[in-house]
Amino acid sequence: MTEYLANIIVNGQARPARSGATFAVNNPAHPSEIVGYAPLANVDDVRQAIDAAASAFIGWSALSPFERADYLFRVSQQLGTAQEDVQQRARLFTREHGKTLRETGMELSRLGDRFALAAGQAEQLATDVHLSTPPNDTIITRQPRGVATLIVPWNWPLSILGAKLPQALMGGNTVIVKLAEQCPLASLQTLEIVARVLPPGVMNVIASPPSELGDLLLTDPRIRTINFTGSIAVGKAILKKSADTLKTVTLELGGNDAALVLDDADLNEAAIESLVMGTFLTAGQICMAIKRLYVHRSRYRELLEKFTTAADQWVVGDGLEADVSMGPLNNEQQYKKVLALIADARRRGATVAEVGQIKDQATYNEGYFQRPTIVTNIEQNAPLVWDEQFGPVVPIMPFDTDEEAILLANATEFGLCSSVWTTDSKRAESVARRLQAGVTYLNGHGPTVQDPRAPFGGVKQSGIGRNLGIEGTLGFLEPHSISSPSGWLF
Ligand code: NAD
Repeated sequence: MTEYLANIIVNGQARPARSGATFAVNNPAHPSEIVGYAPLANVDDVRQAIDAAASAFIGWSALSPFERADYLFRVSQQLGTAQEDVQQRARLFTREHGKTLRETGMELSRLGDRFALAAGQAEQLATDVHLSTPPNDTIITRQPRGVATLIVPWNWPLSILGAKLPQALMGGNTVIVKLAEQCPLASLQTLEIVARVLPPGVMNVIASPPSELGDLLLTDPRIRTINFTGSIAVGKAILKKSADTLKTVTLELGGNDAALVLDDADLNEAAIESLVMGTFLTAGQICMAIKRLYVHRSRYRELLEKFTTAADQWVVGDGLEADVSMGPLNNEQQYKKVLALIADARRRGATVAEVGQIKDQATYNEGYFQRPTIVTNIEQNAPLVWDEQFGPVVPIMPFDTDEEAILLANATEFGLCSSVWTTDSKRAESVARRLQAGVTYLNGHGPTVQDPRAPFGGVKQSGIGRNLGIEGTLGFLEPHSISSPSGWLF
């Protein structure tokens, strides 16, 4: 297969790195295969990107929300027109990422919707609040923060970017996007379509390993806000580095989502499929995947049997193959972490069941594959339970009362998402209100049931601030009060 040569985007130009250097991107299903090369941008490129974003900010921030919405609607249209080549981009994406063509196709197709959704906020953003009680007239309006650094991880790069890029732009900020180095090719290709619509410098995009970039994206005084999605450790480092110039920082970090299956849950085929999907989609490499499954003891055997039978239908293999339901893990580091957690569970005497069908044994042996893995008889203090596995392995544990289930779900430093499974809507809501999480789903879990109009983010060490929704856009804006003596402004 041909190797794709990607560009970075700086000041409206899709181009190689200034040094001309590139880095190879490999296929996790066949690790020796090079899928393509991305420009190895370094500090020089970063400086140029910040210069471009700072210059473009003057014009872009002066536009009204309606004028910016026009650009965003055009981006959405262009991404819609680009559906003709979406299959080709999805193949590239699957080869560099590992996840299935269905997943990469869905991710690429939905990006335009996110631009249209943010553009639809123009009226709300253009509406100021007026206070006209003597002795003052005051207009409360909102200002863009300035140049924004947007950093995304490798697992769902464009969906995650779709929750911050359109919102940052809609708010009047200009941006530097930092894509993850593990699989940047299809995202760089797709963002070229976006860049063609926007004025030069409004969106700049790079994708090198962090070691190449220096600290400018986190420390340059012209960067006023950072919106990061990734691991807790890197999120904390970013918060510390950005402190000297007092940037606002939004952090979307890891999760260890609990799903609580109550004693009256309807465990029909669709519900089980939804639980399995919520656990193993993208081989579990989703921040809002089910990572701990707690089941009322009276339904434990039934759930375990049905869940195991459904997961056993999943076909594990190269995501390019049509009948494959789960690809490999994205990279060697993640693969080794997941294998270590499974080995630790075994050492502790837990019961480990590896299920699912292997499409092709030779490919399975070659790539970073792990079948859907179900772990039972495991203690709460095992790393698989308290740490974030970010892979296709899930502990399933019993509880006796709703009270105990709530305590178990909340007994973690994480607080991203959670779910409650029951036929009683009042009981579902009452349990949900007591769960420490940014999002709680009822009888569903994960990206397939996430309402893109609702704010998304975590509590505790799962993050600070929100993306998506009007709350996400407001995170890129600062209130500005304009005040005069009474009778002067209104
Ligand atoms: P990571 O923190 O290692 O990397 C994320 C991004 O940050 C990558 O683009 C990486 O290159 C960049 N980065 C790392 N160090 C940097 C630095 N010093 N300066 C600038 N950029 C830097 O995370 P990961 O392993 O790629 O992703 C997996 C993690 O992301 C998991 O913990 C997962 O839960 C989390 N995640 C969270 C959400 C959410 O919305 N809460 C969504 C997806 C993934």
